[in-house]
Amino acid sequence: MTPAPDLQDDSGIPTVGVLGGGQLARMLVLAGAPLGLRFKLLDPAPDACAGQLAPLTVGAYDAPDALRSFVEGIDVATFDFENVPAPAAEWLAATRSVFPPPRALAVSQDRLSEKSLFRELGIPVTAFAAVDTLDELHAAVATIGIPSILKTRRLGYDGKGQYRIRSAEDVQAAWSALGPQAPEVGLILEGFVPFQRELSIIAARDRSGEFCAWPLTRNWHVDGVLSASLAPARASAGIREKAMTYARTLAEALEYVGVFALELFEHDGELLANEMAPRVHNSGHWTIEGSHASQFENHLRAGLGLPLGSTAMRGQACMLNWLGAMPDRKTALAVPGLHWHDYGKRPRPGRKVGHATLCADSPAELAAKLERLGAALDRRAQVAPVVASLRDG
Ligand code: AMP
Repeated sequence: MTPAPDLQDDSGIPTVGVLGGGQLARMLVLAGAPLGLRFKLLDPAPDACAGQLAPLTVGAYDAPDALRSFVEGIDVATFDFENVPAPAAEWLAATRSVFPPPRALAVSQDRLSEKSLFRELGIPVTAFAAVDTLDELHAAVATIGIPSILKTRRLGYDGKGQYRIRSAEDVQAAWSALGPQAPEVGLILEGFVPFQRELSIIAARDRSGEFCAWPLTRNWHVDGVLSASLAPARASAGIREKAMTYARTLAEALEYVGVFALELFEHDGELLANEMAPRVHNSGHWTIEGSHASQFENHLRAGLGLPLGSTAMRGQACMLNWLGAMPDRKTALAVPGLHWHDYGKRPRPGRKVGHATLCADSPAELAAKLERLGAALDRRAQVAPVVASLRDG
């Protein structure tokens, strides 16, 4: 058991430090306020959107002065992204209780160690091989086959740093695209999974080893970026059980504290793990209104040694991501059961600027509300696959 953190002052009000001040930090602050928590943030961007809600230290994550000022007065530290420089995480862990554990960050920062750990733990994964040179890429393609995907091992996100190899002619093109990055971030070749569905399981483990997970979520991506999430995903008891077992196995192996997401491909009745995110996750945003305790609340509860809240759902929920710019708020809010989240970020092409969650009592009601929202906001293509899956029966 990892002991609960000691408080830095005698007010009895814990202060949580968050490395990163984006929308995930912002939603942690919003979830922590009713628990009576205070927050401090560190981010290199002076306009980091969580800074609208909590004190922000502006500085690089590995700048000693910025870290010293950030750590002053905080009781625990956590992260809103996984690419935290290892020395910064270690420096923090030397004086403060840090969650999740630095090992979880290290594993998830490198697709090769992540997939190797999954395999070691008996969590199925697609075929993969480390690639450092063009010769190694040819050898890996010969073993793994085509189609396959060449990815950067480190610092890739939202489908960035990936090249899909569809034919033998693509091998050279994939190397030209990503090869120059190989010395710095490493590369991995993965077998392409012709999945039927993308799923994720969001789970939490607390300091005493208590584990819980939210119902399985189904996700739709566009150009590698999450577009919509639906919960509960309609999945067989066998699939639900497997997802739960894989998440629990991973949490225990890493002695995890906090919330994490495990992204899965469903293929012919089996689940293959794609990656884990050692933090609250975009595909768990629906938990804010769709379940009793949200992923943000349970992340904080887990890290502070408080009992975990119930992950039971309140009905059906669908989250839609807003990329680039926010749609019209007034139009959207006319749809009953809609919850609006504007992250307070400046519009920029492709940027995650907000999301909406629609809640309903039945799949049919959720489908009807989604259609109404899609028509009102001219987002029919975004809601269409979710509506189709709800109507499939
Ligand atoms: P990632 O950055 O690994 O989460 O990948 C982003 C998206 O690319 C995933 O959500 C999938 O839609 C797709 N993708 C990634 N890896 C694979 C794979 N091995 N097979 C099929 N699709 C993949």
